[in-house]
Amino acid sequence: MERSERGKVHLVGAGPGDPELVTLKAKRLIEEAEVVLFDRLLSPEILGWAPEDAEKIDVGKLPGRHKLSQEEINALLVEKGLEGKRVVRLKGGDPYVFGRGGEEGLALAGAGVPFEVVPGVTSAISVPAGAGIPVTHRGITTAFTVVTGHEEPGKDENLDWKALAKVGGTLVVLMGVARLQENASALLEGGRSPGTPAALIERGWSPEERLVVGTLGDIVERAKEADVKSPAILVVGDVVSLSEKLRPATIAILRPDNRGDESERIARDLGFRPILAPSIAFWKLPLPNDLLERIRMADCVVFTSATGAEIALRDAELADLLGRSVLATIGPRTKDALVERGLSVAVVPDSFSSKGLAEALAPRFKHVLLLRSAKGSAELVAILEEAGVEVDEVHLYDIAPSHDPRLDWLILRGRPDVFAFTSGSTAKNLIERAKELSAEADLRERLARAKVAAIGPPTRAELERLGVRVDIVPETYTFESMLEEIRRKG
Ligand code: SAH
Repeated sequence: MERSERGKVHLVGAGPGDPELVTLKAKRLIEEAEVVLFDRLLSPEILGWAPEDAEKIDVGKLPGRHKLSQEEINALLVEKGLEGKRVVRLKGGDPYVFGRGGEEGLALAGAGVPFEVVPGVTSAISVPAGAGIPVTHRGITTAFTVVTGHEEPGKDENLDWKALAKVGGTLVVLMGVARLQENASALLEGGRSPGTPAALIERGWSPEERLVVGTLGDIVERAKEADVKSPAILVVGDVVSLSEKLRPATIAILRPDNRGDESERIARDLGFRPILAPSIAFWKLPLPNDLLERIRMADCVVFTSATGAEIALRDAELADLLGRSVLATIGPRTKDALVERGLSVAVVPDSFSSKGLAEALAPRFKHVLLLRSAKGSAELVAILEEAGVEVDEVHLYDIAPSHDPRLDWLILRGRPDVFAFTSGSTAKNLIERAKELSAEADLRERLARAKVAAIGPPTRAELERLGVRVDIVPETYTFESMLEEIRRKG
């Protein structure tokens, strides 16, 4: 076969999982690739950069076949290279750090196929960093050692773990889970103190990152408790204790997915690491035929959530009429959702609560229409009626359990520092789903250990009714204020 000039194989590092931690060169090469060979990657997004018509080969599992052996992968790379293709061989982290990239390079060199390595951000340094652990730190250690915890069976050279114990400094162990117990014991036998801080970081730089901190003496037990699974990195050394200060607090956000991006941005801006786990979902209800008439009859139309506002404004006729109506909201976020779409809001109470709204509305309006969720609290209606206001109500949407896999992950494996609740229903469904997954007791334990924040008094009341202690309720009932308050309370 003729070899075209442009045929070349790139051994490309894909970084530790976050697509933004891929080098510019790697991204360009993936975008230009004709063939991409990959195995397990933490982010499917990276593979999505390849052209649609590129041949994508999962060498971890080919259809109807088992994992390819290293020899088969080498042969495939040579074959595709000789065909004159632009080939990208994607590897997690850096290709030459426990990635067998060197072996692939040797095979390509041996066959005379041009190739180039594109280094990647190795997990050995970046995964500890992401968990708030600098591998070196002035005054603590000037050295770090990176080893594999799981040597290839049949390899001649054996790592001397007892000698490793004497090196001191930071020890980073890749593939650290399977032989954790043996390796930890060997380090202890070699003289490393059982009190030495140790940490396991699972799936670093992914939304499922988990950190388990302990000491060399108890890390095995803690890993068992937390059920740590591969891929994970073990770090041993005094630098581990810096994570307490350097790692961003992780915050589980349970609000529905349509608020996900916004919540994620706010959380990151305030220095948190968000874990999105929508607990509930919305669905739009059919609008009643006489809705326009009922709006015309009302002196004031009240929205109680940004979601309600968004749903209503999707209907052009409705949006037009609302644009000519007197509008009120309980809080500023709902107001923003209306204002962003060109409407003006006449009333927002000073305190963003049902009571505040009733006080603001009662002196001015006789007949109020609520456009809100079918699960809205009866309290608002009662307070308004008590204040002498006639209340009409239309349900724009209903709320249901989310059935989101991210919620199940949170319930079964998540260990956030903070749980943030934006409504009673997010709390209720969390506990209900945990019951369904037979994980209630365990979840309650993690809730008890974490900080629990509620956006306002009704959410707090529901959490307390569910038997969950609430640590933080902001003075202003918005998501942002809740996070600011969590920040302040440290
Ligand atoms: N070439 C890769 C390492 C390959 S060995 C690199 O430079 O990062 C595979 C091991 O790397 C896993 O068993 C695990 O110990 C570690 N690893 C890779 N990515 C990881 C991640 N995102 N989180 C935790 N460990 C990771």
